[in-house]
Amino acid sequence: MTTHKDLIDRDRKVTFHASTHLRDFAQGDAPGRVITGGKGINIVDKDGREFIDGFAGLYCVNIGYGRSEVAEAIYQQALEMSYYHTYVGHSNEPQIALSEKILELAGPGMSKVYYGMSGSDANETQLKIVRYYNNVLGRPQKKKVISRMRGYHGSGIASGSLTGLKAFHDHFDLPIETIRHTEAPYYYHRAAEQEGMSEREFSKHCATKLEEMILAEGPDTVAAFIGEPVLGTGGIVPPPEGYWDEIQAVLAKYDVLLIADEVVCGFGRTGSEFGSHHYGIKPDLITIAKGLTSAYQPLSGVIVGDRVWNVLEQGTGEYGPIGHGWTYSGHALGCAAGLANLQIIEREGLTANAANTGAYLQERLQATFGDHPVVGNVRGVGMMGALEFAADPAKRQHFDPSLKVGPRMSAAALEQNLIARAMPQGDILGFAPPLTTTRAEVDEIVARTRKAVDKVTDELT
Ligand code: PLP
Repeated sequence: MTTHKDLIDRDRKVTFHASTHLRDFAQGDAPGRVITGGKGINIVDKDGREFIDGFAGLYCVNIGYGRSEVAEAIYQQALEMSYYHTYVGHSNEPQIALSEKILELAGPGMSKVYYGMSGSDANETQLKIVRYYNNVLGRPQKKKVISRMRGYHGSGIASGSLTGLKAFHDHFDLPIETIRHTEAPYYYHRAAEQEGMSEREFSKHCATKLEEMILAEGPDTVAAFIGEPVLGTGGIVPPPEGYWDEIQAVLAKYDVLLIADEVVCGFGRTGSEFGSHHYGIKPDLITIAKGLTSAYQPLSGVIVGDRVWNVLEQGTGEYGPIGHGWTYSGHALGCAAGLANLQIIEREGLTANAANTGAYLQERLQATFGDHPVVGNVRGVGMMGALEFAADPAKRQHFDPSLKVGPRMSAAALEQNLIARAMPQGDILGFAPPLTTTRAEVDEIVARTRKAVDKVTDELT
């Protein structure tokens, strides 16, 4: 019988893994793991060891693991018609039904859906749309896109440039020209000179920084602003009070398009259908992926609002068919998975569960860690949350990065058979379990986290 070790040894020889220390993994100095199954919020590895997946994969398996209903929908669609391209007006039934459903959920003002396979490629599409839009409008100089430091928008050449995290730029010669990064809406990390600011004042400060950047670049050169309703990979940071109102006022003033990257927030994670609904954001363009299919198939999308769509139509009237397309755009199996997934979310009330059980998760994290000696900040919204560790919580003083407190907390959680993710650029432990998570499961996640945090705390003190 093939053992777990056999599989990992073979893997080391042949696979280039994402976000992995390539040499250590290839040489056997970094651990590997082969996942063989999952049910509900749990996954199991080749040794039969079971973990609670407190991060739903990469915050994507929103309906939980092992849903045979989705597998069945994919299977039936594969038997009937697994693939035909969607170029020059070709379509398939699941694509049509899925687009109708997405537009219904997105609400008024949204016009059409373009499909891709990943959040990264969807954001590449966004950048092309923004360029095309301004070319059609006769403003070829209006091309720059402003993102935020700590934003995460993918890891392609353009989408990785939008990302505002160092590891995704260094040694890749990114960001590309035309991308700028403004202040992160990260109240807990505010600089010493903003110490006395309220959240509202800090939001105003972020908007002022954005406005200064637009003015310094020249408003006629700034095309779009992109942001996640809640900063995800950058630390699971809900926006400070009033942030999106302040930002949108600045964007409107300078005719700058707003792209809401809903790859994490979309389809229920915040407890609202979209993060944009949760925070009163009125985007021109929306990026979706992850929760669209709960990762049962790779599928992403760009939802184009009326304002932009009208210009795209006008453009093809002038230039001919749009020069954009992927072989797998609108893939029938992805769309079938998406439909089955959205049906489950609706039928089981998972968005409401993200709001209700999510509120319980926030309350339990707060009650358990609010006064913990090494926890500086407990935050979250809906079914996502984070603990940020601090050497001196009262002074918001971070640990020395060389102590690697975040990764050690995550490793200690793993010893408790709990997956909680160490987020980059800080000592942050993130949680984003499936939207199916129950209160009893929240209790278990929090109890295991407590053991892990206490263990590392003992080592540190
Ligand atoms: N946008 C956001 C907000 C994300 O969190 C991610 C991935 O984590 C992406 C885009 C990129 O998606 P993908 O990894 O599918 O390319």
